Amino acid sequence: EVLETFARSDEYHNSFLLRPDEGLEYASEHIKENGLMHHMSVPASQGEFLKLVVLAIGAKRVLEVGTLGGYSTIWIGQGLPEDGELITLEISEVNAKVARENLAKAGIRNARVLVGNANETLAGLPTEEPFDLIFVDADKQSYPNYFLEAKRLVRKHGVIIIDNVVQKGRVADGSFARPPAIGVYPNDSTVDGVRTLLKLLKEDKEVEATTIATANEKGYDGFLYAIKL
Ligand code: SAM
Repeated sequence: EVLETFARSDEYHNSFLLRPDEGLEYASEHIKENGLMHHMSVPASQGEFLKLVVLAIGAKRVLEVGTLGGYSTIWIGQGLPEDGELITLEISEVNAKVARENLAKAGIRNARVLVGNANETLAGLPTEEPFDLIFVDADKQSYPNYFLEAKRLVRKHGVIIIDNVVQKGRVADGSFARPPAIGVYPNDSTVDGVRTLLKLLKEDKEVEATTIATANEKGYDGFLYAIKL
């Protein structure tokens, strides 16, 4: 019932604030048709938020970790200028293919999907070409490493956004652990990855960060919003 309230409330607000978009609608359908887990894509309201951040900071270079079918990638791409650059990292060849098709259909021409384990791909990206925004939304057990790499690769005062850091409260209190309504976070390593990340952040004087909690059809979650000082 709570989930329904979250979903209804999110939909209500979206109905005033989000414009219908053929590219995004096509992507949602195409992701589902191909058997990808669309419930792992960001909710539309969060996609719009990513686009707003891109616009607000005038981002030209954006890095995403975790592409799935490119749904969040399209939102980010829509905020970028013509000469912007978007690199998105995905381990699955199948997901990357669907994402490339979705990006093409949505007219996002400046995005590149790099296939491989993001831990390795990130290690190969040069510090000399920093990003304005880095959005992390992949395997949670790698979050500590993704954060350290993101910190290395983002420009001074650039933004790092890390998704799913609340996980229905389970990150704070494991006793909340129970089968989730939508099976996104079934195991402990997803919780441990975020806890280790939070410990890193506590000691880190080079970033300023806060958690923005969210409630929508996927339940109660949140993302970390950080700035490199
Ligand atoms: N950002 C996408 C969106 O909102 O539309 C959703 C991404 S989904 C939550 C996570 C993605 O990360 C999956 O497609 C998964 O295959 C990918 N992934 C998992 N482990 C990875 C790894 N080690 N390296 C790269 N991608 C990985």
